[in-house]
Amino acid sequence: MHPSTLLSFDDGPGPSTPALLDVLRVTSCRAMFFVLGSNLARAMDVATRAVREGHVLGNHTYSHARPGAVSDAALIDEVEHTDALIREVYQLAAVPEPVSIPLRLPYGLEPQDVRGDVLARLKRSHTGWTAILDDWRRPPPSPHALAGAMRRHIADRTARGQDVLLCLHDGSRLAEARPATVEAVRLLLSDPGWQTGELENRNGRGAGQ
Ligand SMILES: [Zn+2]
Repeated sequence: MHPSTLLSFDDGPGPSTPALLDVLRVTSCRAMFFVLGSNLARAMDVATRAVREGHVLGNHTYSHARPGAVSDAALIDEVEHTDALIREVYQLAAVPEPVSIPLRLPYGLEPQDVRGDVLARLKRSHTGWTAILDDWRRPPPSPHALAGAMRRHIADRTARGQDVLLCLHDGSRLAEARPATVEAVRLLLSDPGWQTGELENRNGRGAGQ
């Protein structure tokens, strides 16, 4: 089977998310949004639109705490609170919720991660990425540089028959705008021959580290 390419966006919803949804809609590209509960609580309408337009919501915890910064019990509370908000979005959108909500912990899951026990207690797998873009930096790389990095990663993996799961950022804990990310995605999706992966097959499945 042809390797799939999937885009995912962390730390939103944020001020740039509606513009990003516009860009994705033009090319019918469906993506995954690993939302922060704290941002989602203020932007249920934006997330409802995302779900209605075929995107999948994932859980990125409530507050984006660093590994070890909060107790296991507090982290479990954060995940469950955010799950509840995500389920509410699917209800608002009148879209059936997925069997399991994908989970991606802030800063990714490291070997020997102190949060491994929490995943086990929640009986949840972790969704990583095959490449993380540095669009979260201040200032971020230019949209052309970001799009170039994505193209190289996609070409490299696809040539070896491997799936791609890119991690970008459509928001932040501080609710920053991400115009460079939106423009980089627009550039990438304007490439002739752009093809998205089959979201259903990737939903909830871990990839990368
Ligand atoms: Zn994050």
